[in-house]
Amino acid sequence: MTRSAIPFNRPTMTGRELAYIAEAHANGHLSGDGPFTRRCQAWLEQTIGTGKALLTHSCTAALEMAALLMELAPGDEVIMPSYTFVSTANAFVLRGAVPVFVDIRPDTLNLDENLIEAAITPRTRAICVVHYAGVGCEMEAIGAIATRHRLIVIEDAAQAILSTYKGKSLGSLGELGAMSFHETKNIISGEGGALLVNDPGFAERAEIIREKGTNRSQFFRGQVDKYTWVDVGSSYLPGEIVAAFLAAQMEDARRITEERLAIWDRYHAAFAALEMRDQVRRPIVPAHCLHNAHMYYLLLRDVDTRSRFIATLKAADIHPVFHYVPLHSAPAGRRYGRASGKMPVTDRASDCLVRLPLWLPDMQQDRVIDAVEAFFR
Ligand SMILES: *Cc1c(COP(=O)(O)O)cnc(C)c1O
Repeated sequence: MTRSAIPFNRPTMTGRELAYIAEAHANGHLSGDGPFTRRCQAWLEQTIGTGKALLTHSCTAALEMAALLMELAPGDEVIMPSYTFVSTANAFVLRGAVPVFVDIRPDTLNLDENLIEAAITPRTRAICVVHYAGVGCEMEAIGAIATRHRLIVIEDAAQAILSTYKGKSLGSLGELGAMSFHETKNIISGEGGALLVNDPGFAERAEIIREKGTNRSQFFRGQVDKYTWVDVGSSYLPGEIVAAFLAAQMEDARRITEERLAIWDRYHAAFAALEMRDQVRRPIVPAHCLHNAHMYYLLLRDVDTRSRFIATLKAADIHPVFHYVPLHSAPAGRRYGRASGKMPVTDRASDCLVRLPLWLPDMQQDRVIDAVEAFFR
């Protein structure tokens, strides 16, 4: 039998995407905010429990909208983890704000809430949390800090669709949330995202910023008799073809999540013995956080072990990946941001974490498990 390559990621498909795209084509409405966009937004509002969901062409775009809504002034500061994707920081840097990086918790690799207050200055405006691997940050403690210091909480929930914290959906807990439907996420549309407007005070302006600074949405609802330029803005909305693809995915979102969870649980059980022998550290999910199996990772002993691990699996045609280069040590991070305190947990995750392919048929899961076990034997 020939052995096929196991790529890191395989985009999820439900089977109805093309039929919905054909329907969008037949509708004759291909620009944004047509019936498929409305269907996706209604699904998000119901499923996540947010007042208003707006589809965007990426999570990056949704974060940029959040930064515009906050009306940041140059020199304002936003507290965030360094162990994250660049868009978390870039969205705010584009407004002249300064990312202030704080270390992460050793268990969940999420922003360490105990280190946030030491990073607050008179210029701090917001805390941008990232729910790493779809596991919730300690939102109760973070919300209390934000209230005490009058800060806005923004959730980078790019990885967190259908995850909950104490029974509430991630993305619904800060004033604003941002989701991603990039093809590497659980629910996808190629490129895609959504802004979740949890604070109704931002709702009207969010629509305007997304529609090039015009009150077009109010015009279509008959609330104004002509539409015009009323504020700053850009074009942040996807077309209907992308929304049609996404609508098919949303219908199957719970099934997709359950299948991912089954694979995640299988890996987790298989690697328990390696953890007992101190060869790996497996993901830790607190009991009050229900996760969505966005990611299965292992923490290895050191960067050398990880390099050998990846090379060995690649030789077996299995393609694990690692991330992130900590933002505080990246060239742009040093230019535009600053670290608050030391970053030992961030640096260790950056050196030692490896992500396994997750979305696979049973037989390929066996191959991944066998290859990992063989490496440590
Ligand atoms: C994927 C990701 C993003 C970016 O999402 P896009 O939709 O590609 O813009 C931002 N933040 C985090 C934490 C991510 O994982």
